[in-house]
Amino acid sequence: MTGLKIHQDKCVGCGLCVKTCAADALAIQNKKAVVNEACILCGMCLDSCPFKAISIEKQAAPKEDLSAYHGIWIYAEQQQGKILQVAYELLGKGQELAKQKGCKLTALLFGNDVANEAQSLIVYGADEVLLCEHPLLDTQIDENYIDLFDQLIQERKPEILLFGATGFGRSIAPRIAARRQTGLTADCTILDIDSENGLLNQTRPAFGGNLMATIICPNHRPQMATVRPGIMQVQPCDEAHTGEIIRVDYADPDASKTASVELLEQVIAAHVNTIADADIIISAGKGIGSQKNMELVKRLAELMGGVVGVSRPLVDIGWSEYQNQVGQTGSTVSPKLLITFGISGAIQHLAGISGAKTIIAVNTDPEAPIFSVAHYKVVADCVEILKHMIANLEARPENGLLIEESKDKLS
Ligand SMILES: Cc1cc2nc3c(=O)[nH]c(=O)nc-3n(C[C@H](O)[C@H](O)[C@H](O)COP(=O)(O)OP(=O)(O)OC[C@H]3O[C@@H](n4cnc5c(N)ncnc54)[C@H](O)[C@@H]3O)c2cc1C
Ligand code: SF4
Ligand code: SF4
Repeated sequence: MTGLKIHQDKCVGCGLCVKTCAADALAIQNKKAVVNEACILCGMCLDSCPFKAISIEKQAAPKEDLSAYHGIWIYAEQQQGKILQVAYELLGKGQELAKQKGCKLTALLFGNDVANEAQSLIVYGADEVLLCEHPLLDTQIDENYIDLFDQLIQERKPEILLFGATGFGRSIAPRIAARRQTGLTADCTILDIDSENGLLNQTRPAFGGNLMATIICPNHRPQMATVRPGIMQVQPCDEAHTGEIIRVDYADPDASKTASVELLEQVIAAHVNTIADADIIISAGKGIGSQKNMELVKRLAELMGGVVGVSRPLVDIGWSEYQNQVGQTGSTVSPKLLITFGISGAIQHLAGISGAKTIIAVNTDPEAPIFSVAHYKVVADCVEILKHMIANLEARPENGLLIEESKDKLS
């Protein structure tokens, strides 16, 4: 076990370390420092001791044969028998990663009476589905699922394991990682395989979104990550794709662990349409210049059958509501068409639009970062372009028809 050690032969009981510890984990007893269970191993006290009487003893984890781990697993979370959209997004990314690694892509489908859903995972890219049906998996009680994951990881040794960053995914993934003594990167926005060492590069915003950090897990398996819903692309359904559905047993389920939990009712929140569900988004940034120009943005959105999105500063100054904010601290969107007007493309904004299929950006600055992700680049005054598009669309008598047509073409 890793732990804090006070070297009694060196400690003179001066108490300097006690003052340093913010966790109240140190005290002086019989003129020597002692540590209690509140210690979080932050290491702050090490430098505070002038006598070098404190150290953190790390016990190396037993060496594992990492080459025994193969394949990419994604957890296909279901609620009330229906697989969540994020599972298909993970399959989309998983196919790419499996191709890079030259390995199988496996989907995990657990529940009670969920077998009917397994085939849909295969046509969306899984090479095999590990299907486990058991009454204990009927409801999302962490302990039951964690035991099953633990069992399967030990038996089958996956190299990579991905979860959607849903409430349940965020709850069980860290506990599974702790059981297996491996690492977990939460809320990844980019995943790829390092071409040199074959490790999973897990990239996520860090330090308040001011930079993107790429995290690796070189010494433990599986390499685990959660991925925010709406970030990865679903690949087209391929009815010709074949795969194997493998039933797995839930060995020795320990119902006594959950006997103290009585689930009275499971209420799935009603789905409310948000900007994250929109097919067409007309997005505005500070470049639109004034609040009155928001009316132009709204009008264009209306004419195109879309919804309004904004960058964060527009919410901060009260030109729009938070529910319209796109980006790292707003919504992650994946529309078929996104048109941005006067948005620079800061990293925090780009974090929310990587799922957009077609991006048209309008900006006066030809070097604006938004152009690095845009499919069509319009270097122009966005207010002029807004007015021009509105005038054109309004001039068409078949306005409504145009909206339907444009939606059809995008689908
Ligand atoms: C922790 C953290 C989280 C954040 N989260 C988010 C988030 O979720 N979403 C978000 O959007 N931001 C977020 N931000 C803010 C982000 O860093 C940027 O400040 C913000 O995205 C910039 O918004 P903008 O593009 O509208 O404005 P600016 O960066 O000021 O860009 C305005 C753009 O308009 C162009 N322009 C000016 N006039 C015209 C014109 N007449 N016609 C056309 N173009 C014109 C300019 O060339 C410029 O590129 C976050 C920041 C932090 C620190
Ligand atoms: S600072 Fe060092 S010497 Fe002083 S009480 Fe703490 S461990 Fe002992
Ligand atoms: S390692 Fe951190 S928490 Fe533990 S005793 Fe030292 S200062 Fe306190």
